[in-house]
Amino acid sequence: MKLYFGHPGDQPDYHAYEALQIFGGACGMPEFVPWQETMWLRAEEDVAEGAEGRADAEGTGAKGVREEIPVFSDSKDLERYIYILMRDITGYSSPWGCLTGVRPTKIVNQLLSEGLSRDEVMRELTGFYLASEQKASLALETALGQKPFLDMQAADPDRIGVYIGIPFCPSRCLYCSFTSNSIEKYKKSVDTYIDLLRAEMEATAEIIRDNALKVESVYIGGGTPTSLGEGQFSRFISEVVRIFIEPSEHLREFSVEAGRPDSITAVKLAAMKSAGVGRISINPQTMNDGTLRLIGRRHTAAQTVDAFDAARAAGFGNINTDIICGLPGEDMEMFSHTLDEIARLGPESVTVHTLSVKRAADLKRDERRNMLESSVVGNMVEAAAARLAARGMRPYYMYRQKNMLGNHENVAYCLPGYESPYNIHIMEEDQTILAAGAGGVSKFVAPGVIRRAFNVKSVEEYIARWQEMADRKRDLFSNT
Ligand code: SF4
Repeated sequence: MKLYFGHPGDQPDYHAYEALQIFGGACGMPEFVPWQETMWLRAEEDVAEGAEGRADAEGTGAKGVREEIPVFSDSKDLERYIYILMRDITGYSSPWGCLTGVRPTKIVNQLLSEGLSRDEVMRELTGFYLASEQKASLALETALGQKPFLDMQAADPDRIGVYIGIPFCPSRCLYCSFTSNSIEKYKKSVDTYIDLLRAEMEATAEIIRDNALKVESVYIGGGTPTSLGEGQFSRFISEVVRIFIEPSEHLREFSVEAGRPDSITAVKLAAMKSAGVGRISINPQTMNDGTLRLIGRRHTAAQTVDAFDAARAAGFGNINTDIICGLPGEDMEMFSHTLDEIARLGPESVTVHTLSVKRAADLKRDERRNMLESSVVGNMVEAAAARLAARGMRPYYMYRQKNMLGNHENVAYCLPGYESPYNIHIMEEDQTILAAGAGGVSKFVAPGVIRRAFNVKSVEEYIARWQEMADRKRDLFSNT
């Protein structure tokens, strides 16, 4: 079937495009026909090239039905209308219905704050947004668990999070679209980067002092921060402690994405422990060595086990692991093996991602992409949720991305008391975040206001322009 979407102007309406994207993975995007008087959708059955009845660009061919799309004052109604139209034409339903956007729980938290009961929220999610019962329950359960964190922030809006980015990794994963560069390739620039990052951190601390902000969490991510050499890493972490941790009287979380197991050493673990890091991530993604090779991670499942053992021996009692549903070539049996191995390791939290094939990722270009068209991804998502629930874990934050297999989501599960406040607040957008380093995004949050400042992504640009990044952050606090 060939779909055409006509729209006024040279670009389709943002919300119409978002609704159409729900179907992008399963059915492909329609061909856009610009400069139309109205918005419309037309479906043509596949016919041989040149055959009678083939649709013309204006969608006025002899076959197929052209559906006019009414003008709506509320973008949610437009998205819902297009979703239903597309669902009825293609036969495809998304588990999240017509819910677009990254943060389903933000909608639930909004509905709860408007005084809706749990039943009413469920009805809104399943009745208006047409989400499945299962996804609606997941979003509601996650949002209810977040409430104490959101209430605490509302009561003390001067609390902020600090993010520090180290944009280097031992190698680039096939699916990665983060700010990440080979540490090997950049080894001559790493010391300079760390020096300038320290300067940006000092400038950030000045903004914190000048605005009497309270640092609640410090999160070091990337990239893979532990891809730095042992000496570099120890010096860097002690600078973070001096600049942010020691002056803070309100700190609840100090997290480091140790990420790649092959980057973790006893020296780096000891440096983090003596710095007071409370939570680290060791991210296997899968415990199948063949898949690890295929996705370019250059470490083995055994190295994940070793890294866990070393972290436990160093005294870490709060470890997160990330796993991915829908990795190329994986079936349910392989995914179950990963779940078994993770259960043996016993992390305090597990973030279950669904593979998202983003434009920036090598995977999209790769012919192995077609290995991903797996109908079992939904079963993987469900199996992970059931296994983690059986371990006493509950979902505590979640988000969605574009181009996720099966239109599922990423969900973090944790044992009670092991929630990462930073992760909750960044997803709910209820807390100011100040970010330092290449690829960092700072966010100024006040009632009814969210302003963002973007740091450049490339290491070379960052080295040339770090001062400008610091100035952008300071500007977020003017006009308040
Ligand atoms: S470890 Fe993470 S940041 Fe680094 S290349 Fe892999 S996915 Fe990207």
